[in-house]
Amino acid sequence: MRLKDFFIPTQREIPSEAEVISHNLMLRAGFIMQVAAGIYNYLPAGLKIIRNVENIVRQCMNEAGAIELLMPSVIPSELWKESGRWSKYGKELLRIKDRHNREFCFGPTHEEVITDIVRKYIKSYKQLPINLYQIQTKFRDEIRPRFGLMRCREFIMKDAYSFDIDEEQCKLSYKKMFDAYCKIFDRMGLVYKVVEADTGAIGGNVSHEFMVIADTGEDTIIYCEACGYAANLEKAAVKYIEISEQKDREMPLEKVITPQMKTVKDVAVYLNVDESKVVKTLILKCGEKFYALLIRGDYELNLIKLKNTITGEMPEFATADEIKKITSGPMGFSGPIGLKIPIYADYSIKGLINFVTGANEKDGHFKNVNLGRDFEVCGFYDLRNAVEGDICINCGAAYKSAKGIEVGHIFMLGTKYSESMGAYFRDANGSLKPFIMGCYGIGIGRIVAASIEQNHDEKGIIWPIQISPFEVIIIPVNTNDPYVIEYSNRLYNSLKKLDIRVLIDDREERAGVKFNDADLVGYPIRVNIGKKSLENNELEVIIRKSNIMTKVNVEDAADTINTVICELKK
Ligand code: ATP
Ligand code: MG
Repeated sequence: MRLKDFFIPTQREIPSEAEVISHNLMLRAGFIMQVAAGIYNYLPAGLKIIRNVENIVRQCMNEAGAIELLMPSVIPSELWKESGRWSKYGKELLRIKDRHNREFCFGPTHEEVITDIVRKYIKSYKQLPINLYQIQTKFRDEIRPRFGLMRCREFIMKDAYSFDIDEEQCKLSYKKMFDAYCKIFDRMGLVYKVVEADTGAIGGNVSHEFMVIADTGEDTIIYCEACGYAANLEKAAVKYIEISEQKDREMPLEKVITPQMKTVKDVAVYLNVDESKVVKTLILKCGEKFYALLIRGDYELNLIKLKNTITGEMPEFATADEIKKITSGPMGFSGPIGLKIPIYADYSIKGLINFVTGANEKDGHFKNVNLGRDFEVCGFYDLRNAVEGDICINCGAAYKSAKGIEVGHIFMLGTKYSESMGAYFRDANGSLKPFIMGCYGIGIGRIVAASIEQNHDEKGIIWPIQISPFEVIIIPVNTNDPYVIEYSNRLYNSLKKLDIRVLIDDREERAGVKFNDADLVGYPIRVNIGKKSLENNELEVIIRKSNIMTKVNVEDAADTINTVICELKK
């Protein structure tokens, strides 16, 4: 491709809307342009990158035996009503009406549509297993679209769905996808961790996320270097460790005035105690029911764990008015003593003595509160987020934590969709059985962003060669020298003959501008062809990643570049 005939609108200015480096660089390199919040144009070079990622994904999916199809983006509400998700999915689901006032949604995920296909065409165990996938534009009306392609509202996803006769077979399908995902992310040169995950709104019972390690990641990963356990924060289990505080040291309950002290930190400083001695009382509601949750002041409540162990449905924090009604005190001063709603406690409270809690009145706290003597709880559970240094649930070593970007997610769904949507097949004995399903997603655009987060320097992007919009850029340094132009064209043609994805910067620009653009866009190999070096029968080959420049004889240039490409692909 000749740059004059192509379109890469690189920008000099720093885009003010970009909070993370990948977003900044994608805008400056002329890959994407925002149309509305979380909705982007993919400009030509950006599209090439997207297609390269898609093709790696496609190849690995095909190799794993999955079959590509394409479903519509706009889905009639009837299918979503069958699964029950029309009323449950919430505001992320973009609901639209056609001219006949019929309801549709713009698909955020396609379990319903694929189940509808399979229930129509697959009737016998002989047609199973099957795994169908698509690479398609999704829409989720994210509450906070940000970070460019990392969290947008319209985005491209690869989603695959497996159908099996039983759990055993489903495990095999799941394993195949697990392995395919590892292959995909390995081929893209990403540094990632596979973590156990909660199954959330999609449903099911087993799930793993593929996390690209990056400081800008929105997810927290908890992992153990000793045994390999890794889980996301929602899921990471906290081991109960007995505290050996002495019961006989219990002190008399004391009410203290804590004017305007609403936060744990304020109270701890004011009363001169450690934050771990201040117990938070959180009032939550689930439907019509209210719960009080006790957790040590220095820990965070984990709503997913609360849902999975106690409430069943996703709980919400009670409003100030509701808190007033239930505790008779204002928000920020709740405590367990005298409460009439069920009280549950995190393990961190078990064995704790002489702690501080709210007194359910304005500016009031209790000191020397003791469980059993002053109040009772319904039970102790693991209800908090794990933190670095916690004891590993498997092996007893200390957890570490890291930030990650979720690029892929796989689930074992069980029969959630097949049962609710009446998708059955006949097994070998002729009985009707629901399909056992799995689903497997990869965010194509998010991979691009994650790759940049891991591969850049102060000059710009450093593409892994597999993803780069072009493998090589040729820069004729002196555009007014006919020999430079002639030789640049000759090399360009030789590389094209070798099927190398090559771009020639034939713009009438200063060499410095071209070099800066090349570094910004991030081509793995740059070839400088200048008048001076040509006089010595040489040209310069620069590897973007290592910044190593080699002088190469013009006769050997094409072959040498080809060899370098093979090396970079390894
Ligand atoms: P998240 O927790 O980040 O919102 P999710 O759990 O909702 O992700 P899935 O439903 O598992 O995501 O979707 C599969 C994949 O699609 C994710 O692993 C991610 O790579 C990608 N993805 C999801 N939401 C977005 C988004 N808003 N923008 C870009 N990619 C996304
Ligand atoms: Mg999401």
